[in-house]
Amino acid sequence: MHDPPIYLDNHATTRTDPRVVESMIPFFLDDYGNAASTSHRFGWTASDAVDRSREQVAMALEVEAKDVIFTSGATESNNLAIKGLARGCAGAGRDHLITAASEHRAVLDPMKRLAREGWRLTVVGCDGQGLIDPDRIAAAITEKTLLVSVMTANNEVGAINPITEIGQICRARGVFFHTDAAQAVGKIPLTGILENVDLLSLSAHKFHGPKGIGALYVNRRRPGLKLMPLFDGGGHERGLRSGTLPVPLVVGLGAAIELADRERPAEAERIMTLRERLHAGIARMVPAIRLNGPIHGRLPGNLNLSFQHVDGEALLMTLRDLAVSSGSACSSMEPEPSHVLTAMGLDEESARASLRFGLGRFTTTEEIDRAAAAVATAVQALRKHSIAWSAPG
Ligand SMILES: *Cc1c(COP(=O)(O)O)cnc(C)c1O
Repeated sequence: MHDPPIYLDNHATTRTDPRVVESMIPFFLDDYGNAASTSHRFGWTASDAVDRSREQVAMALEVEAKDVIFTSGATESNNLAIKGLARGCAGAGRDHLITAASEHRAVLDPMKRLAREGWRLTVVGCDGQGLIDPDRIAAAITEKTLLVSVMTANNEVGAINPITEIGQICRARGVFFHTDAAQAVGKIPLTGILENVDLLSLSAHKFHGPKGIGALYVNRRRPGLKLMPLFDGGGHERGLRSGTLPVPLVVGLGAAIELADRERPAEAERIMTLRERLHAGIARMVPAIRLNGPIHGRLPGNLNLSFQHVDGEALLMTLRDLAVSSGSACSSMEPEPSHVLTAMGLDEESARASLRFGLGRFTTTEEIDRAAAAVATAVQALRKHSIAWSAPG
């Protein structure tokens, strides 16, 4: 009999919490109205449920409900924020965009597309821990800069960026500020962070909600902030995101963010303890490993390790019953080493020899101990066959 597989890939996606699924079911089976139907009770019920979810998101972010726009996820939110702002503000005399090398492709790729369309783009580097230095952002800003986009927390090495400081710099210089908070929402306290943020992306499936739903916070009090929608249609979501709202998913997002927010203090503590246990367990059995990303100021559920003289892909193949990632999950079909790890200064071999562990709400102590043992066995086996490892020096 095989042991059940262990899921430690919670940065890629999470298990939908059964309580969230429960909250969604009535909106598939009974209250299946279109939230835009104003002439009957099916529509009113759906519309009330959407209002409630918007309130739940606003409550968790400590913003106003009218500033929350539902989208299909963080990829769409990032595209709406970046391309929407660039196109909405085109011709206003600012043609320069700033982002960082450690961003998710859902930020880097829309930025690169705008650069191909004639926008000037500065990609600021990160430090050896994957952090963005606010001084480097300040130095990159010119009077032509329209937008700065820096993620709240990194999806590969868990680095939590100084978003408050970067936001203050942007505000003082009259530049709009967007942050991709897909990995941060429900994991770290956001109080105070939003104060100088104009646009914030989130995605339900990163905090035990359903896939295919997310939101963009838009600071409507910010003068001059104008977004051009990505597509045209019925004018839903204040004209910013046409298309019939997926009411069950919207309800699931609301339930998931409320749960995550309520349980976060205790959960963060529990998950961080498990993360330390995993790190210590592996370190006890396996020599020559290095931690990628910061020791402190890191997402509680993130551990990223490089194993000297071991190929990460080979390690993954050996660890059949352990769901983890080598490099970024989103680009793991490509043989390229992670752009985040290389931006942090890791050489190609160390980047390839890395594993990302992502712990979540359903991770148990027993799983952590089994995972540590499995990793140790696999690394020892691979190193036994590695010439570099056995060579002296
Ligand atoms: C997962 C993730 C995304 C993409 O989110 P989707 O909702 O799957 O589109 C974007 N940015 C970061 C940092 C992520 O972790």
